[in-house]
Amino acid sequence: MSLRLGIFGGTFDPVHLGHLLLAEIVHRLLRLDRVLFVPARVPPHKEGVPTSPEQRFRMTDLACADNPHFAVSDVELRRDGPSYTIETLRALREASPPDTEHFLMMGADSARDLESWKAHEDLLDESTVVILERPGVGESDLPPSLETRATRLPTPSVEISSTEIRRLVRAGESIRYMVTDPVERFIRSQGLYLS
Ligand code: ATP
Repeated sequence: MSLRLGIFGGTFDPVHLGHLLLAEIVHRLLRLDRVLFVPARVPPHKEGVPTSPEQRFRMTDLACADNPHFAVSDVELRRDGPSYTIETLRALREASPPDTEHFLMMGADSARDLESWKAHEDLLDESTVVILERPGVGESDLPPSLETRATRLPTPSVEISSTEIRRLVRAGESIRYMVTDPVERFIRSQGLYLS
């Protein structure tokens, strides 16, 4: 039987309960064997990331540790240059059994910009793109090409973002229930997002 592998790339600065909840729901809805979280070393579409790739990898690892069907990949940490998803997908394909099905998961905000991603046509050819609901992004915001070529899942709308968590930490406010406890402890112990 073929392996059904979810791939969930992101900056994960920090990884939050929105990421984890949606990954768990997609795992169930699509009967995936595993969801692989892939923290980007250099996210091509983001500037001024305040943490190191290693810190973001560590937080993602802490968040996923107690879920037997979640795993974290360092494939982008080991590669120089911008972390293009198409290169990640090809590297993961090479490392997977030949009949593996790859499901590339992304929020609707990422899907809205997909046509600006490197080799986006190839991404759509080489994986099943799975779009997750994201507050503020409607059906009509998505590129028409995705209508027939991607799967939009009825996931709940989760109003949590890493940006808001960083803002709350900076303001000295609680982030409880927005990240897992081990991730919050890591953020506090490393003094992340204070400035
Ligand atoms: P930031 O606020 O710093 O931009 P983020 O919360 O969007 O970060 P990322 O690590 O950039 O988090 O997101 C990784 C992937 O998860 C992206 O595809 C993004 O669209 C998706 N995602 C993040 N948060 C949510 C959410 N609350 N609902 C749906 N998708 C989400």
